[in-house]
Amino acid sequence: AAAPPSLQVDDLAFAYPDGRQALFGVDLTINRGERVALLGPNGAGKTTLVLHLNGILTAGHGTVTVGGLAVAKQNLREIRRRVGIVFQDPDDQLFMPSVAEDVAFGPANFGVTGEDLRARVDTALATVGMQEHRDRSPLHLSGGQRRRVALATVLACEPEILVLDEPSSNLDPVARRELAEVLLGLDATMLMVTHDLPYALQLCPRGVVLDDGVIVADGPMRELLADAELLRRHRLELP
Ligand code: ATP
Repeated sequence: AAAPPSLQVDDLAFAYPDGRQALFGVDLTINRGERVALLGPNGAGKTTLVLHLNGILTAGHGTVTVGGLAVAKQNLREIRRRVGIVFQDPDDQLFMPSVAEDVAFGPANFGVTGEDLRARVDTALATVGMQEHRDRSPLHLSGGQRRRVALATVLACEPEILVLDEPSSNLDPVARRELAEVLLGLDATMLMVTHDLPYALQLCPRGVVLDDGVIVADGPMRELLADAELLRRHRLELP
């Protein structure tokens, strides 16, 4: 049988406790190896959707499955390993004295030990081009280097899907390019939440536009960006 999709969201609806409905019946399937940009104006529901992918929010209606496993209270540990979120602010996931310890923290937490753990750390650091910085404090790295270490901490857990929250924000052009090269070289399934349309075009063949809690477009990034009316209607701004 074919591998299950890396991510399948079916009829997901969610309202915050104050009654604000943030998602209305969202359907989204991402197959293994796909790279998808999640676009939409402020308040569209992108963060709310991402918080459902690893079970931080679960109270809504509908289902989320990750590599065939449905998100449920009993399996959040495995779901959190499968959904590797790289937060917008790398400082949210770097807190150990050295880069190597930060990268080891995730897989160690999921039970990887000894030689396997060392190999995970080496591979993840090599993938993001940070091996020579392994003994440094993350505090002494540049913003681009910190973001690549944050990516390594997630890669070391061997996730089913990578979720990147505004990966290009606050990076200079060189750091943006270095990160793009790393991401394009990964053999990974990726959902990238961003307002940076050129970066989304560079990295993701497919784009999904969410607005007011509804998916209003899903197709090739190139076609979405060529649709001036779509961009205007959903306040998507090209630089
Ligand atoms: P941005 O691009 O600004 O990050 P977003 O697309 O991620 O926006 P969400 O943060 O998911 O949008 O917000 C969706 C809707 O839910 C908005 O109307 C927002 O005001 C509302 N919302 C978000 N968090 C809460 C909360 N904790 N309580 C109540 N309403 C919330």
